[in-house]
Amino acid sequence: MNKIIIDVMAKIENVTFARGALATFLIDFDLTISSMNEIKTIVSEAITNAIVHGYQNNKEKFVHLEYILENDLLTIIVKDEGVGIEDVNKAREPLFTTKLEEERAGLGFTIMEMFADEIDVISKIGVGTTVICRKKLSRNE
Ligand code: ATP
Ligand code: MG
Repeated sequence: MNKIIIDVMAKIENVTFARGALATFLIDFDLTISSMNEIKTIVSEAITNAIVHGYQNNKEKFVHLEYILENDLLTIIVKDEGVGIEDVNKAREPLFTTKLEEERAGLGFTIMEMFADEIDVISKIGVGTTVICRKKLSRNE
């Protein structure tokens, strides 16, 4: 088992860092390109949500990341201490967005669900949101 914990400031440029850190964490795994692209997309969507929705673009705040690898099971945890989600089930519906005016598509959760094996979203208004994604990784043949 291996695990890394990283706190990044809530800046969009740190999405690139978080993706790169995940790729580096898994460097010895010999992951397929499609698996790698899927998990990078999951991380990007979850961190972007923490920044734009959770923290409403307040860049002083921190997004907490955990990457855990147990055999071929990857767990990605993305946590913010932001505004929280009123109705998680509704938020997870395709095309649901609270930022229509900013031209958000409302597809972040849908994409995460498509690419992960399992997603848990724990959220409380005024306390924050934690997204936990689990995915079995595939190695190159
Ligand atoms: P897109 O991801 O396509 O740009 P989106 O971010 O609005 O659009 P989702 O990622 O599916 O779509 O999220 C749906 C809704 O859930 C958001 O519009 C927001 O209201 C809420 N939400 C998601 N993540 C968080 C979070 N970390 N904190 C607070 N609200 C969130
Ligand atoms: Mg989103």
